[in-house]
Parts: sequence; C-alpha cells; structure tokens
Amino acid sequence: MGDVLRWCGAKGVGVARYVDRDRHDWLGTVGKLAVFVGIVLVALLVVYPERGFLPTFLLILAGLWTYVSLMAHHSGYVCTSCHKVFRVPTPVNFFSTSSVGKNADGTYYSYKLLTCPHCAQRTKARLVKRAAATATPRGGPRS
Ligand SMILES: [Zn+2]
Repeated sequence: MGDVLRWCGAKGVGVARYVDRDRHDWLGTVGKLAVFVGIVLVALLVVYPERGFLPTFLLILAGLWTYVSLMAHHSGYVCTSCHKVFRVPTPVNFFSTSSVGKNADGTYYSYKLLTCPHCAQRTKARLVKRAAATATPRGGPRS
C-alpha cells in the first residue's frame, strides 16, 4: 500500500515496483550517454562553426535535459531513512549531482543526496530501476 506512487503525475502510474539495477541497466545508461555525446559532437562540430556559441550551448543543454529525463523515467530513489521509494522531478534531477557508492559485495550503486518526500530527511537516496509496467502487459491473449 505504501508503494503507491501518485505524485509523479504520469499516466498509468499505479503501484510501481522498483528493483535494483543490473548490468543490463548500466549498458542502457552507457547507450543513452552515447546518444548525448553524439548530440554534443554534432553541436560542437556542426552547429558551432555555423551558428556560434549560444545555439551550440542551448543544443547541448537540451541534449543533457533529454538524457536526464530518459534516465529519470525509468528510475526511482530509495530513502535510506524510511526505505520508501520516491521519484524526483527532472529539474531536481538535473541540478543534483549523482555519486557512486560501493556495496558490501564489491558492486557499485548510484545515489544522490536528496530530501525524501515521505520523511523529510536528507539522505543518500539510492538509485533503483522501476520495474517497467510493460514487462507485465495487461489484457494479453490469455485473458
Ligand atoms: Zn524517507
């Protein structure tokens, strides 16, 4: 019951489950990063010589914003104080820095210093992947 996430306002958000990130997600992260790097390269090599500094800067900013939105879309953060999962709006995600911590078993995880909306504590909120609703399609052929 406590997992019902409403305040992100997206359609189709009911009970969302969150799981830890695995290697596949890191590859996905790298893929999105590659898209962002591509945008930056286009901006620097094509837009900058023709249009100058400001359009280049805006394009890079737009690319970065898109990248952050893509990342945030599939992610949530777990409060280390109350262990509830919450999502952050893109602007907050955009302006907050991400850090990497190490698990006891030697693997790594990402976290951000965020203020939890549930308990109002500022904690090292750990990044988790949202178990996609598309993974469990409703109204399949068997229904
Ligand atoms: Zn909390």
